[in-house]
Order: sequence, then C-alpha cells, then structure tokens
Amino acid sequence: MTQKIDTLAVQAGTEVDPTTKARITPIYQTTSYAFDDVDHAAGLFNLEIPGNIYTRIMNPTWAALEGKIAALEGGAAALAVASGHSAQFLAFHTMMEANCHIVAANKLYGGSLNQIGHSFKKMSWGSTFVDTSNPDNVAAAITEKTRCVFIESLANPGVVVQDIEAIAKVAHAAGVPLMVDNTLATPVLCRPIEYGADIVVHSVTKFLNGHGNSVGGVIVDAGTFDWAKSGNYPYLSEPNPSYHGKVFTEAFGNLAFILAARALGLRDLGPAMAPMNAFLTLTGMETLALRMERHCSNALALAQWLQKHPKIDWVRYAGLPDDEYHALAQRYLGGKGGAVFTFGLKGGYEAGIKLVSNVEMFSHLANLGDTRSLIIHPASTTHRQLDEEGLRLADVGPDVVRVSVGIEHIDDIIADLAQALDQV
Ligand SMILES: *Cc1c(COP(=O)(O)O)cnc(C)c1O
Repeated sequence: MTQKIDTLAVQAGTEVDPTTKARITPIYQTTSYAFDDVDHAAGLFNLEIPGNIYTRIMNPTWAALEGKIAALEGGAAALAVASGHSAQFLAFHTMMEANCHIVAANKLYGGSLNQIGHSFKKMSWGSTFVDTSNPDNVAAAITEKTRCVFIESLANPGVVVQDIEAIAKVAHAAGVPLMVDNTLATPVLCRPIEYGADIVVHSVTKFLNGHGNSVGGVIVDAGTFDWAKSGNYPYLSEPNPSYHGKVFTEAFGNLAFILAARALGLRDLGPAMAPMNAFLTLTGMETLALRMERHCSNALALAQWLQKHPKIDWVRYAGLPDDEYHALAQRYLGGKGGAVFTFGLKGGYEAGIKLVSNVEMFSHLANLGDTRSLIIHPASTTHRQLDEEGLRLADVGPDVVRVSVGIEHIDDIIADLAQALDQV
C-alpha cells in the first residue's frame, strides 16, 4: 500500500545510513568515491553497476532527496541539480536536438519565459507560447519539430491553474511528452503524473525546502513515456558514442530519461547540487505537508480579508470560491489555492511602493515558498524593465502586489498588512 503524502514527506528516501547507521542522511561532503579495483571502476564508468564516481554526477545526500521527491510525485526516478532553472534546462536538453521546438504556456514564472524565449535561441531551439486555457491552442502550435509541451500546474503571478489532463491528452495525441513545473503546487496539493504528466520539474528552492536557505532543483520522470517509439529522441534511443554505443532506452528501460539526464547532460553541462543544499532540503521537506496546510489556510484567510478592504481593488486567488480558476483548483489542488497570490491596489503604482515600504513583518524580496511571509511589487522590481503595456500582458500591472503567505499566525499576518495599508 502506498503511504499517504504526509508520511512520505517524513519517511521516503531517507533510510538509515548503511555504513554508519546514522538515522539522518549525512552530508556526504566529498567530491569523489574510491574504487574497489580496476574492474569495479570499469563497471561504474560503463554504467553497468550502480555506485558513485564523482559529485558532479551523483552523491548519496542527493540520492536520498531524489528518492523522497520521486516517492512524493509518484515517479520512477529523479535527479537533483543545482537550481530549478538547471532542472528545466537539463530536462529540455535531454529531449531536444538543435532546431527542435517546444510549446509552452504563456503563463509561466518570469525566469522561465526568459530561459525559453531568449536563451533557447542560442541552442537553436524554438518555442511557441500559447494560451493553454484552451488545449486546442496547444494542438495547433505543435509541429513535427515539437519535442515537449511545458506548463506550470499552478502559475504565478497570475495564479493560473492548468487543466493538466486535457493538455496531456493533446500532447500525447501528437506523440510528445508533457513536462510540468510543479513548484508552486507541490506534490502535497497536486501530483501531475496522476493526470498524465511525463516529466515533473521543481525549483526545490521554494516550498520543498521551505526555509529560504538554499537553491536547488529536481527532475522527476514518470517512467511512462516511450522515448524510442517516434525516433524523435535520439539522445535516448540511439547509440551513444560517449558510452561505447550504449542505447539508453534499451539499457535502462523506464530509468532511461533520468540516467541520460545524469550521465550525459549533468556530466557534460555540470550544474551539480551542493550536498549541503540537499541536506537542508531534506530537512525542510519533512514538514512539507504540515507547512502547506498552514500556508494554504493562511493564504485563504488573507485573501478573504483583502477582498473586503476598502483600498483593495481586486484579489486573484484560486482558493476563493468566486475565482475564475476555482473549479480547476477543486479538480487539481484539492480545492486549495497554494500560498502565492496577487491583489490590486486602488492607488496603483504609488500605493504599491508605499505598501511594500511600510510592511514590518513581511519581507520585501524576490522569493516565494518561505516559512516567512514575503511581499513584492513586481512593477517596481522583477518586471521594472517592462512598459505599462508589457506589464499588463505579463499580468503584473502597476497596481499589482504579490504575496507568498508564510506560516506565522494569521492574526499577525493580517495585522502587518493592515498597518501598512493604513499608510497607503
Ligand atoms: C523559482 C522558480 C523557478 C526557478 O528556480 P530556481 O531554483 O530559482 O532556479 C522555476 N519555476 C518556478 C515556478 C519558480 O518559482
């Protein structure tokens, strides 16, 4: 029987250390691992026996984290890397050759819009951003060069909930995998693999770590997509010259994607996670389910309070019964809306600046998913290079404030915003 998510967050992946019997997974702060003999070394380098070689490619502290997140997401295997962005990048790199293409949601984390819209061009990768609220738009944008459809289960700053199952169907009908960034929802609210996602990526920097103390990312493979069938994924399904012609799909079955991402992509591109960061993330993750419960109840209470405040124009939070994404939140997020949402101030840009300048307990910074309550006014910070039209297109007009609601007592959260709003 599969254990519940609360139990997996505590127990999965973190066995008693086999050599020392340490109960908590140690920080394996080592670059390399000794070989028993020449045959052992050869077996490791040929990917014929499991084991450790060098911490650019594998590390036992990461392995515990990989096991925990794979269990929480219901995946076949996972790979931990240095950041959320390197996780996405390595996953794309494992799927795509030059001149390939992805179809992505137009509502994504700003950094992902940059990675896909700008840096992709240097690899000669193409991209089309579409409004995924109508899955037909995804179907229409898929070409014979498309190798991936990419969405976020819960996207900020617009607080958009995606219809994962409908989008997965469209992608699969075209022979293309669906990759889902599940950072904001976390596997506590949503497990995209249950709805047809093939690859799930996370910025573990956010809720999984939860304490704002390290940057990290992870790729999870559902293990269900057939990478050999179409011939469109040669990195996985054709002989690899750097491993004596090994064919990853033949040699590793449903572990092929993660093994290729590790033994080819991570080996050659190098965004390795610091063992210390894996340790901090493992520690943080033990309380993930508890934290998400409090994050969500606090966020809902704050959203309801803001809706009634005379200086607030609007609140967008999928946990609110009258929100346009509430029905999808019922289906995919257990009716919850997560911890991150936006609201608009009647006083516009000036009011936004006043509000973030006068909060006392909230931290004014560009992160989310911390135990602490965080606030940002995108138009004057993360999106300040955009003009008014650009801001509106990105769902961050001059009046927009984004909060990531922490796990403090709700009375103190409300009291801080109340006193700051009084000064607006
Ligand atoms: C933060 C974030 C990323 C990027 O992750 P890093 O760990 O900062 O590299 C990607 N997607 C989402 C949804 C994020 O919130």
